[in-house]
Amino acid sequence: MTATDTAPLDQAESLTSVNPATGETLATYRIDNEDAVRAAVAKARIAAATWGALTFAERKKHLLRWGSKLVEKSDALCELIHAENGKPKDDAYLEMMLALEHIKWAASNAEKVLKPKKVSPGALMSNFAAHLEQRPLGVVGVIGPWNYPVYTPNGSLAYALAAGNAVVFKPSEFSTGIGNFVAAAFAEANPELPDGVFTVINGYGATGAALVKAGVDKLAFTGSTATGKKIMASAADTLTPVLLECGGKDAVIVAADADVKAAADAVAWGATSNSGQTCAGVERVYVDKSIADEFVAEVKRILTDIKPGSDDKASYGPMTMPSQIDIVRRHIEDAIKNGGKAVLGGPESIKGPYIEPVILVDTDESSDAVCEETFGPTVTIRTVNGVDEAVELTNKSKYGLGSAVYSRKQGLEIARRLNVGCTSVNSVLSYAAISGLPFGGTGDSGIGRIHGAPGLLEFSRPHSIAVQRFAIPGMALLSYSRTESTMKMLRKIVPFIHGRAK
Ligand code: NAD
Repeated sequence: MTATDTAPLDQAESLTSVNPATGETLATYRIDNEDAVRAAVAKARIAAATWGALTFAERKKHLLRWGSKLVEKSDALCELIHAENGKPKDDAYLEMMLALEHIKWAASNAEKVLKPKKVSPGALMSNFAAHLEQRPLGVVGVIGPWNYPVYTPNGSLAYALAAGNAVVFKPSEFSTGIGNFVAAAFAEANPELPDGVFTVINGYGATGAALVKAGVDKLAFTGSTATGKKIMASAADTLTPVLLECGGKDAVIVAADADVKAAADAVAWGATSNSGQTCAGVERVYVDKSIADEFVAEVKRILTDIKPGSDDKASYGPMTMPSQIDIVRRHIEDAIKNGGKAVLGGPESIKGPYIEPVILVDTDESSDAVCEETFGPTVTIRTVNGVDEAVELTNKSKYGLGSAVYSRKQGLEIARRLNVGCTSVNSVLSYAAISGLPFGGTGDSGIGRIHGAPGLLEFSRPHSIAVQRFAIPGMALLSYSRTESTMKMLRKIVPFIHGRAK
């Protein structure tokens, strides 16, 4: 594992981790170049043989020990998340807790989901036993973002490990310390395992790009859609399969029969917590006209008292990535230019690394603030004439990650009409906390799923084995010895099996 390097480093080969609230340097890391990345993958491949050969029960023991180690070191981990990412320590604790839930679920359910299964061979192949077995892929490359630096990559790391793969993880350059901490906890909890089961490589995009080309058996990426597209194009050269968890522009539908106060409370939190830097955070709201005034007033009332900061009382922290501040400013200005009304805040809400909540009402649907991911503590609210219009506008987005519906009577029915990967009914983001539910999106939000049974299957390959138990005399179908009478018999059997539907 790559460790923090305290020796002075040449700037070109080092990465400096900085506190986004204060600009203070936290640590310096040596950047892993192409050769170092290839060496990490080669070491992981050797370790994968040992790790992949363990029983599910043995891997479960190692994964749960990792979880316990994270709990033991939770104070230090939450301090580090607060310092390097900026979010409040309590939010850091919740993030860690969610990651622990997923580690436990993946470890405990891997055997049930991935164990060998017998499949019916069908009438024509009834002399065969059909086995479906899932094998580990080998080495999985994981590239992560910074917004939920533990929880988000964990959806790939824990599930890939539980499925019997070794992992090589490149954390975001904005959360390098956190990525190294999590991997060190795995090694510390499992000293008897060979080096290389869980390796970290450090660096910027170039290190990630080298990982894509380093011969991994699958590349699991979480980050922006633009980077996801580059990774998929690069992975095509070697037909390396990819899992892409990308951006979102999630909508909340507030129907006429919604609990307005509950919906407003959830939208206020879902849009601004973590400084709005949540892939499945609330970015757009479509509210029925019969309750729109009451709803907007309630969201405004709640958010008026919500303040960002770095102290213990702050509701959320600074923007983690300085360049995102310009995108948020551009979206707010563009929304106002396109007919939107800022009923709370505006461009003046941007104060250094902090952005206070901004509510934009009835912004043009073609503006960037409605079409592109803002990733800041802002929300657009549009009044609609009923559920049909809300569904149509929700589905118009090129993204399709999460969504939410507030309705007392038709929540599930409305949810089923949305072209997205996940929906919460009468809550926001709750699907992400239910380990058995897969997470991922449609369209520009990505390809594939983390979490749940599909999240384990993503990191394994099916191996189909057909075993002939006995030969049926006169039924040698896959042989040149096939006879005319066999074909005669088949011409009777096939219409009987397949030709009677009216
Ligand atoms: P990003 O795309 O800038 O970077 C993500 C990672 O990719 C980083 O580790 C980065 O170093 C690496 N990278 C950059 N260029 C690369 C290249 N050419 N080849 C390989 N790797 C490269 O994204 P970000 O700013 O870190 O994260 C924010 C984005 O992540 C938002 O769009 C957010 O919606 C998305 N996100 C999605 C999910 C999800 O599950 N769908 C979860 C969290 C965040």
